[in-house]
Amino acid sequence: MSGHIWSRALITGGAGFVGSHLCARLLDAGTDVVCLDNLATGSRANVADLEPRPGFRFVRGDATDPEVLAGLPGRFDLVLHFACPASPVDYLRLPLETLDVGSTGTRLALERARADDARFVLASTSEVYGDPLEHPQREDYWGNVNPVGPRSVYDESKRFAEALVTAHRGAHGTDAAIVRIFNTYGPRMRTGDGRAVPTFVTQALDGMPLTVAGDGGQTRSLCYVDDTVDGVLALAASAETGPVNIGGDDEITMLELARRIIALTGSASRVRHVGRPVDDPARRRPDTRLARERLGWTPQIGWADGLERTVGWFSRSAAA
Ligand code: NAD
Repeated sequence: MSGHIWSRALITGGAGFVGSHLCARLLDAGTDVVCLDNLATGSRANVADLEPRPGFRFVRGDATDPEVLAGLPGRFDLVLHFACPASPVDYLRLPLETLDVGSTGTRLALERARADDARFVLASTSEVYGDPLEHPQREDYWGNVNPVGPRSVYDESKRFAEALVTAHRGAHGTDAAIVRIFNTYGPRMRTGDGRAVPTFVTQALDGMPLTVAGDGGQTRSLCYVDDTVDGVLALAASAETGPVNIGGDDEITMLELARRIIALTGSASRVRHVGRPVDDPARRRPDTRLARERLGWTPQIGWADGLERTVGWFSRSAAA
């Protein structure tokens, strides 16, 4: 890991996709971990391997409940605020909860970090750039977000959370940083969460058509979860405040992604074009110069390797 060892970390949303990888990585590095999760979109199965380990504790609770956050016993020296429905399917199903965890949840997690004198990292998102008018997206770009569009519950929740982090740092000197994570993929993504990688992989393994939105020309830059975790922890270990982009550099069209997954799984599936969601960004690629220069971070896991590991995990889960 980044050379820094914390003694005790609180990870909100630790039973989710990215959070569960963070829990595992910190435990492996000798940090005790409290995983706080209400299981709105995550699952206990994501941390089942960690539960028997002595340094790990799962707490089922809501990050928007002041008694839960303040009542966790002991002191933390790291707070990672990752609780938030993250896929469009989830945040459209949980619109008010998504706004609450970005606002009240972020505020309470910041207050806990301040009370404990802990380092704090907010999981923000490339969605703060909306449907970007600048390409690639640099951290000083303010974004192009529709405040009343269907995605606004997520985008504005994270934008407000960023404002809270900034205000808390200014008002109280809280040691708080913001990471803007771009599309991340890997094991433990949920089938049916609507994101491209789990959707395509599951469809390919089931021999079903791969449902590509629109003409499939829209791009994303995907990052393997181990690289994202490296970036988050490098930021946590640094004195940087961010926002810092963490994401893959390889921009790929959704049609090309579908074709690669068909090839990798050896599936007989074909592509079927379906309607494009409202306000779906056309292009997405991070400018990661800041992360490279300030954190010494670069993604290590290439496409072929990352997709192979992901497909392997989905096939094993389907067989289990
Ligand atoms: P996820 O849905 O798998 O994980 C989110 C976790 O938060 C779940 O376990 C869920 O049960 C929990 N949660 C939600 N509301 C909660 C609440 N009020 N109290 C306690 N727990 C709550 O999503 P993910 O992909 O792992 O994303 C994790 C974080 O990273 C999110 O904040 C997301 O916005 C951010 N992020 C993820 C990506 C990505 O590509 N995966 C990209 C950008 C940002």
